[in-house]
Parts: sequence; structure tokens; C-alpha cells
Amino acid sequence: MTFCTRFAPSPTGPLHLGHAYSALVAHGMARAINGRFLLRIEDIDQTRSRPAWEQKIYDDLNWLGITWDAPPMRQSDRTPVYRSALDALWARGLLYPCTCTRRDIAEAASAPQEGAEPVFGPDGLIYPGTCRDKPIPKGTELPDNVALRMNMNRALASLPASTAFEFEETGVEPGPIRFSAHDLVSTVGDIVLSRKDFPGSYHLSVVLDDDDQGITHVIRGRDLFEATKIHVVLQLLLGLETPVYHHHRLIRDEAGKRLAKRDDARAIATYRAEGMRPEDIRKMVGLI
Ligand code: GLU
Repeated sequence: MTFCTRFAPSPTGPLHLGHAYSALVAHGMARAINGRFLLRIEDIDQTRSRPAWEQKIYDDLNWLGITWDAPPMRQSDRTPVYRSALDALWARGLLYPCTCTRRDIAEAASAPQEGAEPVFGPDGLIYPGTCRDKPIPKGTELPDNVALRMNMNRALASLPASTAFEFEETGVEPGPIRFSAHDLVSTVGDIVLSRKDFPGSYHLSVVLDDDDQGITHVIRGRDLFEATKIHVVLQLLLGLETPVYHHHRLIRDEAGKRLAKRDDARAIATYRAEGMRPEDIRKMVGLI
């Protein structure tokens, strides 16, 4: 099987040093062993994605000397694929519509009768379950224009008791990573698999897209390590292969904070405009 990896930026702002590091590591690993390197534009957040940012991503990557081996995949082109996966999960009774706002969730999670402190997972506050048990009339089709959550407890219970929850990690904690799926009910909870404004969510699309692009090795920042457990569960539910994962270190600012899209000062475009060369960027992120 040919090694195949990808870089999957969202066109919601400028690429910064952290993105450059991620793309250079993935590209470097692929090129070192004659593997494939692909690009994916993660533009499901239609309120924040802009074609102009997408173009700047191509410009910055070209400038860094990064080449990709197929036309980029764009998530906004893939709604039929996401819909059919949602249909399948809906038919198995694993999804439910959720009309809660962020505020509803914060209020319900901190209500005194809940007894415990609100718990945060990879997606923020663990969903307190307000909409989970609302009756859904039999024969109801996959609803549109409403967020859909996956009932984590039910989803895990639908998998065979012998299921192994694990993935191979070659980055931060090398070795097989085994986890207790049952813990995900309290540490992750009922994740959103479809947004109100888009038939899909980060977690759903990333596993379907990695599978369709034939990704054998997912190379990305260690901030997504915990999310990988969610991705493994989705791969098991959807009958997809789990690739190998390589979570790399994060590039931080002087204060030790992870770089964010709003850190324009560290945007690749800013360094380019200041006359820096691609080698300077490699040096700055510790690749030379
Ligand atoms: N689009 C995600 C980001 O920009 C990357 C997701 C991934 O690599 O799985 O952080």
C-alpha cells in the first residue's frame, strides 16, 4: 500500500507558522519515501470560509515548495457523501436532532441539579443530553436544517462487544494507542455530526474524506490527539479502515501559546512580504 498523507487547512484565515510546519512535515514524510501528498480544503464552515483565503493557501504552499499529487478535495463539494453516511446512521437510530444553542448547553451543564462541575471534552462542554430522549416518530426521514448529534452510548453499544478501540500512533506517543470506548460517553459525549447550516461536521467529514482520498497516514498537530478517538469510533461505525496517525508537536509563540488563525503577525504571507525565504521558515519551525 503506497503511503498517502494530506494537509487539510480551513480557508478561514492566513496560514501561519504552525500550518507551515504541519504541511512541511507531512509533505517531507511523503516525498522521502515516494509516497503521495494530497490537499483538502476544509470549508464546511461556510460563514467563515472565503475563496480568497483558499487562493492564499495555494500561494503560500507553492512558495514553500509544497506540491500535491491530485486536484484538492473541497468539503463543500461533498455534501452527498456526508448525507448518505448521515442517512445510514440515522436509519440505525444513532442520531437525534438537537436544537440547543451554546447558551442552552452552558446553562444546562451548570444547572445545580446536575450535581457535578461542567465537563469539557475535545469539542468543548460535554452535551448534557437535553434533546437526547425527545421522541422521534417512526419513519421520520433524516431531518434538514437542524443539528444532529450522535448518541454516543447507543452508538458504542451497537458495536460488537469484542471491538478493539485502538489506533497506531507514530508521533507524540509512539505505539498502539488503546482506549476505553466507554469513557468516551463521559469524556466526549454526544458529538455533533451534522450542523444546522451544513449536512456534516468536522468529525464526520474528516473520516469520510480521509477514506475517500485513500489516506494511509494522517499527520496533524497533537491538539487533535483526543479527537482521533472519536474518529476511530466513527470509522468502526461506518466500516472504514483506521489509518496510522502521526500527531506532531505544536508551534507556539514566545508565551508558549499555540498559534491561531488570528496571529497575523506569524502569517506566512507576512514573512514573505518581509523578504524571508522558505528556508527561513523551515529554520523558524525547527526543520533545519
Ligand atoms: N482542518 C483542520 C485544521 O485546520 C485539520 C484537521 C485535520 O488535519 O484532521 O485544524
